[in-house]
Amino acid sequence: MTDWFRETLHPSVGQSLRIDRIVYEGRSRYQDILIFENDRLGRVLVLDGIVQTTEADEFYYHEMLSHVPIVGHGAVKSVLIVGGGDGGMLEEVLKHPVERAVLVDIDGEVVRLCREHLPSICGGAFEDPRAKLVIGDGVDFVRETELRFDVVIVDSTDPVGPGRALFDEFFHASCRGILDAGGVIATQNGVPFFQGPELVQTHRQFSRLFERSGFFLAPVPTYVGGHMAFGWASDRADLSATDVETLRSRLDSHRFDTRYYNAEVHVSAFALPECTRALMP
Ligand code: SAM
Repeated sequence: MTDWFRETLHPSVGQSLRIDRIVYEGRSRYQDILIFENDRLGRVLVLDGIVQTTEADEFYYHEMLSHVPIVGHGAVKSVLIVGGGDGGMLEEVLKHPVERAVLVDIDGEVVRLCREHLPSICGGAFEDPRAKLVIGDGVDFVRETELRFDVVIVDSTDPVGPGRALFDEFFHASCRGILDAGGVIATQNGVPFFQGPELVQTHRQFSRLFERSGFFLAPVPTYVGGHMAFGWASDRADLSATDVETLRSRLDSHRFDTRYYNAEVHVSAFALPECTRALMP
């Protein structure tokens, strides 16, 4: 009999992925963890019944949430990743000549299992001498750290379980406090077609806390419902304003491989359709 994984993210619509082989199934202190193989998607990571990433499409999400803020900033030396225990974001960040990349994930089991079973997603990122792994709550880390960062990337789960606090105004305010001058925060904000309230909430909080903020979009095949939204905010930088020539010259001066991201995609990602603009009056 064929087994199917049925995602439980949205109450009335869901995707099903065929389970060709279960690689790991268990529960950590924080969440249910499932890793399975699917013929089309490769290995799939699921936390609390929600697809986090797959070998086949991880690059859409990881490239956009890392390279857009880093290349848009233009002179990034230090990056904080909150969440991101699969290591895919860390791998993309380390493609840049950063001096330091700190990854704080609450769940050491996710990191351990992804390093063991999903090495194609993190590559050798955790072994890079510039990378520092902290196992702990991102909310506590951001509140307590004395480090400062050019870019803070919130690579969180959806706002259920331990990830809920990463969508709060208190957390975003703490992130603002650890940004260097010109620093940028970038967040994952779900798929607006199904998760509009997440975007509305982040928009309101960013508008209250930061001088500038907005969203950019990318389609991520296994996050169903059309474009995914990524939030950004900064007191000094306008991430949406970097023109394509500037981006091309930054990418020429430091070349790295991508499968989705490029200068043209970067610029076009800031073009928001009317139904998304309507969520951020
Ligand atoms: N790309 C994914 C998505 O959008 O579905 C997110 C990937 S990553 C696996 C999410 C990580 O956030 C998980 O490893 C989880 O343990 C971590 N996480 C959840 N709540 C957290 C918190 N409060 N502090 C730090 N990490 C947290």
